[in-house]
Amino acid sequence: MAVVTQAEILSVIEHTAEIREYILKPDKYRRFEAGMFLQLSLEEVDSSDYWPESRTFSLASYYNKEKVIRLVIKKAGRYTTRIFNEVEKGSEVTIKYAYGDFILPVFDQKNDIICLAGGTGITPFFSFVEALEEQNELERLKLLYSAKKYEDFIRLDYLKEKLNDDQLLLFTTQEENKETINRRITKEDVINAASNYQEAHYYICGTTEFNLDFKEKLEAENLKKIYLDQWE
Ligand SMILES: Cc1cc2nc3c(=O)[nH]c(=O)nc-3n(C[C@H](O)[C@H](O)[C@H](O)COP(=O)(O)OP(=O)(O)OC[C@H]3O[C@@H](n4cnc5c(N)ncnc54)[C@H](O)[C@@H]3O)c2cc1C
Repeated sequence: MAVVTQAEILSVIEHTAEIREYILKPDKYRRFEAGMFLQLSLEEVDSSDYWPESRTFSLASYYNKEKVIRLVIKKAGRYTTRIFNEVEKGSEVTIKYAYGDFILPVFDQKNDIICLAGGTGITPFFSFVEALEEQNELERLKLLYSAKKYEDFIRLDYLKEKLNDDQLLLFTTQEENKETINRRITKEDVINAASNYQEAHYYICGTTEFNLDFKEKLEAENLKKIYLDQWE
C-alpha cells in the first residue's frame, strides 16, 4: 500500500547545472526495497485528495535509520524545471511511495549483480549499494557506469569509497580521460564483469536506447535474468 506524505527538503546539492541531489525527510517514513521509485508533487495534498501532477523519481537511498530519502533529479523538461526553480532547503513537497519491481533478487544471495548505468540512470544503484552493504553482500555488485564526461559522474567519491577497482568500471563517451575507459560499454565488458555470467543478474538503467540495446545484446547470449528501469 503506497503512503502519501509531506516531506521536508533538508538539503539540495548541485552536481552540475542540470543535476541536483535532494535529501528529503518524509513525515511518514516506511520500509521499501532498494531500486523502487516514488511520485513527487509540488502541490500539498493528502491521501484523500485527487493526486495532482507529479513526476516519478528513483529512490537513490535505501531504508535508513535517519529516515531520509535521497533523490537525484535531472532538469529535463517542464516539471523538473519547476522543481529546480521552486524547491529549496526547507521547502515541503508531497510524495507517494514506494513502487516498482526493479529490485534486488529475492531468493538468490550468491550470484553477481551486474549494474549498467547510463548518465542519471545511476540513481537506483545508489540504493543497491546501500542495501547490499547492509546485507554484507556488496562484493556481489559490479557497476559499469557510463557518462558523457567525467564531471557528469554523480557521487563518484561515494562510489569509489564503497566499490573497488574491479567492481566500478567508469566509461566516458565524449571525453578522453585517464581515469576512465574512453568509449561506450560493450557486451564483452558486461559479460567479463561477471564471475559466472550465465547465472548473474543484469540490471540496466539509462535512456530507452541504452536499455533496449543491452537487453537485446544480453538476450542474444541466452541470458534470462535481465531487469530494466524504463524512464520513458
Ligand atoms: C521509474 C522511473 C524512474 C525515474 N527516475 C528518475 C530519477 O531518478 N531522476 C530523474 O531525473 N528522472 C527520473 N525519471 C524521469 C522523470 O520521471 C521525468 O520523466 C523526467 O524528469 C522529465 O520530466 P519533466 O517534467 O522535466 O519533462 P516533461 O516536460 O514531462 O518532458 C518529457 C520529456 O520530453 C523532453 N522535452 C521536454 N521539453 C522539451 C523540449 N522543449 N525540447 C525537447 N525535448 C523536450 C524532455 O527531455 C523530457 O524527458 C524516472 C522515470 C521513471 C518512469
